[in-house]
Parts: sequence; C-alpha cells; structure tokens
Amino acid sequence: MIFAGVVVAAGSGSRAGGDKQWRPLGGKPVVRWSVEALLNAGAAPVVVVVARDSLGRAAEALAGLSGWIAVAGGAERADSVRAGLAAVDAAETTPVLVHDAARPLLGEAVICRLLEALPGADGAIAALPVSDTLKRGGERIETTVDRAGLWRAQTPQAFPLGRLRAAYAAWPAGKTPTDEAAVVERDGGVVRLVEGDPRLMKLTYPEDFAMAEALLPRQIRVGTGFDVHRWGPGEAVWLCGVEIPHDQTLIGHSDADAGLHALTDALLGAMGDGDIGDHFPPTDPKWKGAASDQFLIHAVERLQARGGRLVNVDVTLICERPKVKPHRLAMRERLAAILALHLDAVSVKATTTEMLGFTGRGEGLAAQAVATIELPA
Ligand code: MG
Repeated sequence: MIFAGVVVAAGSGSRAGGDKQWRPLGGKPVVRWSVEALLNAGAAPVVVVVARDSLGRAAEALAGLSGWIAVAGGAERADSVRAGLAAVDAAETTPVLVHDAARPLLGEAVICRLLEALPGADGAIAALPVSDTLKRGGERIETTVDRAGLWRAQTPQAFPLGRLRAAYAAWPAGKTPTDEAAVVERDGGVVRLVEGDPRLMKLTYPEDFAMAEALLPRQIRVGTGFDVHRWGPGEAVWLCGVEIPHDQTLIGHSDADAGLHALTDALLGAMGDGDIGDHFPPTDPKWKGAASDQFLIHAVERLQARGGRLVNVDVTLICERPKVKPHRLAMRERLAAILALHLDAVSVKATTTEMLGFTGRGEGLAAQAVATIELPA
C-alpha cells in the first residue's frame, strides 16, 4: 500500500537532557530507528521535521538511507507537523503516518494495523488500554478514576493526507493540540483506536534510554581467537596484560602478549570485523614494542560504537612454563578492568600439552580465547 510518513524530530527534548532525537540508542541515533522502520515498511516519502539549525545533523544521522527528506519545523509541535504535511508530495487520499522520533522502537506490526484500520475512517491511532488504577489528587487522593474506556495514545497516528491537512487548517490559532487525533476529532472526524505497542514508549527522561536499550532486539554472537609467539632471551613476559618475571620472553613486533592478541581476535571475530592484523598491521613501525592492551581497547571501542556489549570472555594459555596459576587472578583483574566486566565474566585458564608439540618443547606459547557479545539485531 502506498503511504507516507512524517517523523517529528524538532523538539528540544529538555527533560531527557537535550536533543534526545540525536542521541545514540543501540548504536544509532534515536531518530534513525523510526525513519528506518517506516522506510522498511514501504513509506514513501518519509518527511523528517527537524529544527532549522539541525538539517545538517539529520543528514548525518540518516546517512545511507534513501527515500527521506528533511524540512525545518516550527516553534510548536503542531507547527512542525504542519510543515511536514506541507512537504509530503502525494495524493490527498494517501495515508500519512505521523510519528514522534522520541518513540524509536516502531515495529512493522503497528504500522500494518494502522493502515488496515484507516479505510472508512478519518484516522487511526496506536493506543494501549490503561492498566494501572488511576487516582486524581495532589498530596492526597481525591477520587479513584474509572479506567474503563481510557487509553494511552501513542504514535504513529494515521490519516488520509488531505483530511489531516484540512483539520489542521480548521484548528483555532493560539491553541496547542497534543496529538493529531485531537485535531481531527475537533474537526468532527472519526478516529479509530488500534492496538499499540508497549515498546513504543516515549523517551522523555534520561533514565528512559536505559529502558529502551533493554528493549532492543539483540543477538548473541561468539568469536574465537588464537595466537602463538616464540620464546627468546629475556627476563619477563607479558601475558593477559600482566608482566611476569621469567627467564625468557615472547618475541614479537609488539609486546607479544599472546593472551591479549587471542582475546582481541575473539572480539573482532564476534563482530565479523576482521582480525588484529587488519587493524594493527605488523608492518607498521608504530606498533613496535606496543603494549597490547591498546589493541583490546580498540576492539572494545568498536563494539561500543555498534551499540554492542560484551557478555563474557574466556582465555586459555598453553605452555609448560611459566606457571600461570599464581598470576591468574591478577590477569583476570586486569582484563576485567580493560573490558569493564565483572570478575566472574572473565576467565583465564592454563594448560600444558604434556610436553608434546612446540609448546611442550618450550619453543613457543599459544593462547586461545572465546568472547561472547550482544549486538543490536
Ligand atoms: Mg600475536
């Protein structure tokens, strides 16, 4: 079905700590979630209404998407909606879905319900029945309000484009509607209620972001890493970010911390983001003698940039010497600090190969690692 979208992102969002529509949620700006949802559902065009000085910001936040245009809004939300409606280039009978950018978790099911409910009506809105008991009062309760027949209005709200334009034209100057349905109701229109979605919560206060993050669809990913370095003359060895006195050292371009290298590869592997050599080429003199914790920190930063989070890591060091056990807690604590994980989500284990193979002969040390991450789906 042909329909258009208007996403209102012109508010200052002062209660949420300012400019909430541009803040990242699950690795992308809040406004991008609903624009993507509408475009994916087939909306054409999607008009994004932003503050006049934020047009550049919109282009940045929506980079790579096609089928949207940005227009400057007005002082009040209603002015912004009017500006958005004016910019929709479609027939008067085309359904238009007006949506607040501050409700990022828009699913296709709600969009479908609205479009199905619209024929024969002047509008249809997403709403949820009130489930809490309602009280009227100040410091003390005056009365308990009967909640039967009461609904919480959400967005999107759907209307035939021409019908909503006409209702706005008839709206009295100086009065501020709180949603589009109120404008059409006042103009005598029939507006239907369709089942909304609790995930369409409005980001109003800073703490709402944490709740929205928790509601994001996520996928669990696992990555593995493996690394080997050769033993050579030296007095200490770096393993899992801890320097251990030893009668040999591991040879490598950086500090040769095989534990951190394997773990960095496990993280990159879980993200499908290449390997440590892609990010830190051994041919680059910049990494000569480098402390390997910066490689791991880099991988963690790339995970955070994608809105992901680390769940747990598990490293196994494979060598006959040095004895790892006395240093295991220090290694776990160091990794936990780098990764911002609880200690119980960080494991370091060690094993020998029963004197077999290159690790058994003391030619080199091997490390393997597993990392579990969550990424926005
Ligand atoms: Mg290495």
